[in-house]
Amino acid sequence: MHRMSFKRRDTLTVRIGSVAMGSGAPVAVQSMTNTDTADIEATVRQVRDLARAGSELVRITVNSAEAAAAVAPIRDRLRAAGVTAPLIGDFHFNGHKLLREYPDCAAALDKYRINPGNVGRGAKRDSQFAEMIEIACRLEKPVRIGVNWGSLDQDLLARLMDENNALPQPASAQSVMREAIVRSALDSAQLAVSLGLPREKIILSAKVSGVQDLIAVYRNLAARCDYPLHLGLTEAGMGSKGIVASTAGIGVLLAEGIGDTIRVSLTPEPGGDRTNEVIVAQEILQTMGLRSFLPMVVACPGCGRTTSTYFQELAQRIQGHIRHRMPAWRAERDGVEEMTVAVMGCVVNGPGESRHASIGISLPGTGERPVAPVYEDGEKTVTLKGERIAEEFQELLERYVERTYPLRAARGTTP
Ligand code: SF4
Repeated sequence: MHRMSFKRRDTLTVRIGSVAMGSGAPVAVQSMTNTDTADIEATVRQVRDLARAGSELVRITVNSAEAAAAVAPIRDRLRAAGVTAPLIGDFHFNGHKLLREYPDCAAALDKYRINPGNVGRGAKRDSQFAEMIEIACRLEKPVRIGVNWGSLDQDLLARLMDENNALPQPASAQSVMREAIVRSALDSAQLAVSLGLPREKIILSAKVSGVQDLIAVYRNLAARCDYPLHLGLTEAGMGSKGIVASTAGIGVLLAEGIGDTIRVSLTPEPGGDRTNEVIVAQEILQTMGLRSFLPMVVACPGCGRTTSTYFQELAQRIQGHIRHRMPAWRAERDGVEEMTVAVMGCVVNGPGESRHASIGISLPGTGERPVAPVYEDGEKTVTLKGERIAEEFQELLERYVERTYPLRAARGTTP
């Protein structure tokens, strides 16, 4: 696949466990569990599923004594199961107390997420924030200072609103709100540095729920600091609305070189699969040409030339087969994620697209001869016909992978 080279903004590089984040490093995919962290079984299962789906970092909420006590056992069970994704703890009002009283929790986490609007009110705020930062310094943990539109520091907002109102030509309330979000992140980072946290341990985020606000806030933040930035909407929403909103906001920023890690905060359907947010995040990065995670299946939309749904079913079958086979392929072979597979609905226009894919098939359209030409690396290799076109194409795909992406062991290399 052609890899786009958006000029990434220069930032510091922050290490979170095994993951490097910042300029030069690939944009990392992360996600968050929605289990009760105190439920060790359920949380281990969900972190494992998210990591296996491709989440390179996973965040869990640490909101109670029971949750804090569960963190180290969760981390131990994950590592024993071979899950190495860094574990991030999400802290709010009682974070200072939990980190102090549960040292195993503080040590087990790879990063702390602190929301400066939720660390305490009034005089307590700075001391509670300071206590968390001091623990991070002592244990050499990176910190994400994660400002959130819904829990913005109200004292800061009120002060900026008053200053704005005193101006001869006050800015809009929306601009003041955006400035307050950026200022909260920058001021909190400055405070953390003054408390001794190295700058190379800081990541910033400033999450909002509107796409235009997200773009404006992050452009501003990126222009005013060199910390790596975590991108995402605070609540993207459900289904296609959540996917479109996240893609629109995150996509614009990534295209400008802004963003070092992303999370797509989809509201799950009841009983829905949490790993969808990981798949969407990967697809955003892959369709923008920034990273490759999975072979791309290119299917035509269909039109009046084809009246059967056979090609849609084949595209779905091939997509499912690739998702199923990818864990083994990834473990054994290099470069499979770069493969493209075309499944086209007619033999008039299909071969053109097939020729550009690694391997492609054009199924017969309405009234066309019941034959399906297959192209591999731009050359027509075989024409399938009969009842077993789907099975035979799947076999050809397997052979293509075996031939094009040899086993690492056979080449004498290890992962
Ligand atoms: S490839 Fe053929 S069936 Fe598919 S959209 Fe194009 S013309 Fe229509």
